[in-house]
Amino acid sequence: MTEGPVTKDAVTAPDTTDQLVVLDNVNKHFGALHVLQDINLTIKRGEVVVVIGPSGSGKSTLCRTINRLETIDSGSITIDGKPLPAEGRELARLRSDVGMVFQSFNLFSHKTVLENVVLGQVKVRRTEKKAALERARTLLDRVGVANQADKYPAQLSGGQQQRVAIARALAMGPKVMLFDEPTSALDPEMINEVLEVMQQLARDGMTMVVVTHEMGFARSAANRVVFMADGRIVEEAEPEQFFSNPRSDRAKDFLSKIL
Ligand code: ADP
Ligand code: MG
Repeated sequence: MTEGPVTKDAVTAPDTTDQLVVLDNVNKHFGALHVLQDINLTIKRGEVVVVIGPSGSGKSTLCRTINRLETIDSGSITIDGKPLPAEGRELARLRSDVGMVFQSFNLFSHKTVLENVVLGQVKVRRTEKKAALERARTLLDRVGVANQADKYPAQLSGGQQQRVAIARALAMGPKVMLFDEPTSALDPEMINEVLEVMQQLARDGMTMVVVTHEMGFARSAANRVVFMADGRIVEEAEPEQFFSNPRSDRAKDFLSKIL
């Protein structure tokens, strides 16, 4: 993975913290709606955290605050010991430290698959074109779409497009990957090919936050399940414990509807 240059920040905020993402008392409103309420969440390096909960509970907003697609009203968020930058180049750099994969694939439709994976590396990471191309081909191979490199996104299946989106995020050398319902828009037969790529990523030690309704994935890949309802973290537990013995009524009710 790409390593940034050693800056003076590295001296004041050494890269030794075990806590990669820390949300401390985060609050967020949309008008009168208190969408994130006193969120405290720490994600350790290499940890896979699955976030589940009913629709409208704030899961997407939580993800979006972590790479600052949404601002917060109070509290703090740090990534690898550093507070989220507000704007400019620092923000662009943060966005590449925090890879994000959405429900909709969000590929550049007028660029080829290969160009999609090369672009950010050259523009944001300032990687040399040749190295960026090489890295893109390696990653496309890793997610199993190397033979689609010269096609345009619309020529690929949804599952293939989503795997390209994962490769594109990985190309930036992220410290953490956020997945917001990455398989929800896929036809059923394509869900597993995307989950398998995510499983492999988890096994390789990537730090991941995954919003999903795929409970099989949660059981097998998550170190921890975070259950949200009404803008709050209601329950946090290891998957085995959460699924076999949820403590809160909200979680029991939710699980009884989806399992
Ligand atoms: P989830 O991902 O758990 O379904 P969201 O984070 O998308 O929940 O939304 C949480 C709540 O915030 C919902 O009530 C939603 O309607 C509201 N919301 C989300 N985004 C916005 C926005 N940009 N403006 C106003 N309300 C929003
Ligand atoms: Mg959502």
